[in-house]
Amino acid sequence: MTLVELTQVSKTYAGAGGRAALDDVSLDVDGGELTAIMGPSGSGKSTLLNLVAGIDRPTGGRVRVGGEDLGRLSEGRLARFRRARLGFVFQFFNLLGNLTVLENVLLPAQLEGTRPAPARARAMELLARLGIAELAGHYPARLSGGQQQRVAIARALINRPAILLADEPTGALDTHNGAQVMELLEGLNREGQTVLLVTHDAKLATRYAGRIVTLIDGRVHDDSRLDGARPLPETMVTVRIKEEQP
Ligand code: ADP
Ligand code: MG
Repeated sequence: MTLVELTQVSKTYAGAGGRAALDDVSLDVDGGELTAIMGPSGSGKSTLLNLVAGIDRPTGGRVRVGGEDLGRLSEGRLARFRRARLGFVFQFFNLLGNLTVLENVLLPAQLEGTRPAPARARAMELLARLGIAELAGHYPARLSGGQQQRVAIARALINRPAILLADEPTGALDTHNGAQVMELLEGLNREGQTVLLVTHDAKLATRYAGRIVTLIDGRVHDDSRLDGARPLPETMVTVRIKEEQP
């Protein structure tokens, strides 16, 4: 089932001298996939993710998510759609420092109007699933980067999003914590969560993603499935084999 459908999508930012950040990108993402968007800095990765998230609007083409044409939604309905159907994880976690871990995770559920008891049960279940239940009453400033990103992932999942979007979720983490966060995302994906993430870490992408879409200068340069259906570029195969050795 197609969950995300970009059709000839372009984005030119005002004041960019007419240069397109995304240039005629068509891309489908199926439910259940873990897709990594890769590419050099400035290639349009965040732009693409923000268009799927409805954080920004394209200057050309159509973005459909979960069958909904985002371009046809008013700002208010788009905000509502985002809150109810999408989860977003950022590089720098974006937790609220004056709220506890549990309060941060509960926030989107409260905005959705979920009753307190089931929301709390769901939040605690997620914190346990992510291995940080004992941190529920702590404030974010006391946590490590890896722990903060787990909290952010729990917050993104509380409303059971159709798709989890993550922009460089390991970008602020060391190698060990980065791999742990990717392992978590892979585990969630195995349980059925669709994940679309941006990374410039080829090792993590080839190890954990089922599909890698590479952007260069705002265009899709390569689109590879790592399930054997399509051969990988040789450089990526080498990385994957090395990673799998103990
Ligand atoms: P990436 O995430 O791959 O590094 P971005 O999507 O952030 O790339 O940026 C793609 C291009 O669009 C870059 O040239 C960047 O400078 C430009 N850009 C991104 N955001 C804005 C913005 N808000 N206003 C103007 N230009 C932007
Ligand atoms: Mg970016």
